[in-house]
Amino acid sequence: MKRISVICPFFNEEETIAEFFAALLKVITHIPFQVEIICINDGSADATLALLCVQQKNNVAENVQIKILDLSRNFGKEAALTAGIDYASGDAVIPIDTDLQDPPELIVEMLAKWQEGYEVVLATRADRSSDSWLKRNSADCFYKLHNQISTPALPEHTGDFRLLDRCVVEALKQLPENQRFMKGLFNWVGFKTTQITYTRVARIEGESKFSAWRLWTLALEGITSFSTVPLRIWTYLGMVISMSAFFYGSFIILRTLIFGVDLPGYASLIVTVLFLGGLQLIGIGVLGEYIGRIYMEAKQRPVYLIRKKYE
Ligand code: UDP
Ligand code: MG
Repeated sequence: MKRISVICPFFNEEETIAEFFAALLKVITHIPFQVEIICINDGSADATLALLCVQQKNNVAENVQIKILDLSRNFGKEAALTAGIDYASGDAVIPIDTDLQDPPELIVEMLAKWQEGYEVVLATRADRSSDSWLKRNSADCFYKLHNQISTPALPEHTGDFRLLDRCVVEALKQLPENQRFMKGLFNWVGFKTTQITYTRVARIEGESKFSAWRLWTLALEGITSFSTVPLRIWTYLGMVISMSAFFYGSFIILRTLIFGVDLPGYASLIVTVLFLGGLQLIGIGVLGEYIGRIYMEAKQRPVYLIRKKYE
């Protein structure tokens, strides 16, 4: 019988665990596969780990095994997913959010597509109505910008919830980078892909762990991981500004020769100096962003550390 691994990252999810397991088990106890549920406790400070152990102890479903990886601290969702993927042994792997925003019922549909021969099955949101206005629009901007300057394009409105065949998982494991924008990496490896759509509901309990600042950092991660356009743009901008300066300089020289010396010019001078100063700082900032990433990558630290495995 084929094996499926469901990867569940938990960070301070004590309020959602019971409901999540009830919903997930309801779906997977009836499918004709062996299932391993890999729970990653991503450094939760609440009772998450204890509650996961209770779920593991109480599990009676014959085709289901619950395994827990307890990370040594909070490494973030990308690292937690990486830990799950490294550890998974299934013929297909399905990462899923544990706040029931990714409906477990979709797993059945994903498996059907997988059996038709697809190697990746994306769960794409039909719309973003459950998001705030700000999140909806900022996500739109991110996808537009990202897809303009990076290849391959990211499928819009698609999170980490998807099915990955073993061959895709093996490909992912070959990507050695430390800074892991999982959505981008999942997408980068390619393979035969199809989509199913669903409506994403609001989180059942608790709050999103992704603050606006964390989303911004993730977006920077996504862009710098997959594009060097932000680095190159300064060359072109520099050329345009030098050309303009040359023509403006020629104009001033000519004007002075024809009409004589014209002293006022404080305003234009200060505006130009400040404008160029700002532009240079932004350029240095972008360089710094990439250098910082090279620095972090060069250390070759592990992406996550496991305190204990409960198998
Ligand atoms: N998560 C995690 N580590 C973190 C933040 C989040 O493992 O540092 C998990 C979280 O427990 C949940 C999933 O990632 O299962 C998605 O998180 P959340 O619902 O907060 O994000 P959102 O749905 O708002 O994007
Ligand atoms: Mg959520």
